[in-house]
Amino acid sequence: MTQTAATTATTADLTARGQALTVQGLSVHYGGVRAVDDVDLTVPAGQAVGIIGANGAGKTSTLKALMGLVPRRVTGLRLGERDITKVKARDMVRHGVGYVPEGRHVFPGLPVEKNLYLGAYAKPWNQRVRTAADEVYELFPVLGEMRNRLAGALSGGQQQMLAIGRALMSQPSLLLLDEPSMGLSPKLVDEIVQVLQRLSAQGLTILLVEQNAKLTFEVTSSCLVMENGVVAMTGTSEELSHDSRVRQIYLGL
Ligand code: ATP
Repeated sequence: MTQTAATTATTADLTARGQALTVQGLSVHYGGVRAVDDVDLTVPAGQAVGIIGANGAGKTSTLKALMGLVPRRVTGLRLGERDITKVKARDMVRHGVGYVPEGRHVFPGLPVEKNLYLGAYAKPWNQRVRTAADEVYELFPVLGEMRNRLAGALSGGQQQMLAIGRALMSQPSLLLLDEPSMGLSPKLVDEIVQVLQRLSAQGLTILLVEQNAKLTFEVTSSCLVMENGVVAMTGTSEELSHDSRVRQIYLGL
């Protein structure tokens, strides 16, 4: 498959327009269950925004709905100025959106390197794909060391790195991450924080969904707090990290 200039958003393209992602009136229902109810959010180009919330708050459903992976209702959905309400999930990557799903979903029977190459499926196969893999190995040296190892033989932390690396292979302008800290040791969580900070400093726009509020505040500049499918609070990460209710409920302080 080939990539066309008409459908590919570049970072410069998005930065020039201010907002990388604009979402208005997003709702998700599973039968009678209201998982997400009329959520608005914006992610400024080049910034990292977080969505925190407890189990079942609607965070994963929000990301899946943005990707078009679950049925949704949405009033407005734009990447930069481009209306993407009709873009199918499989085409989101061509619009510059990378997605790291909850639970990693690496291909266990394939080697690490093949998993990475699958992340570049929307690119024509050429030297740029190898260069993208080298960039992932630079970010996660352990993946370079294990490039011929089956993904199923990696630890949970290594699989998380692989899932992030695979999403980076398409050289996205916007990266959506769903609970990258899930099941990881504190040391590995710190490693993920450092990588996300580094990607953010390089100008990648990030939307991070997490139960781990501490990690989220370390990576993002602003956050939404979701409760029962709605946005209960918004603010800068600095403000929210000092809010007494957030400290009590989400930081356990
Ligand atoms: P977690 O941190 O546990 O992933 P979350 O904040 O991401 O939680 P969601 O997974 O989006 O929350 O779930 C929101 C609500 O939707 C919950 O009540 C959940 O039980 C429900 N839900 C999620 N997926 C489905 C589904 N496929 N069918 C029915 N209900 C669902």
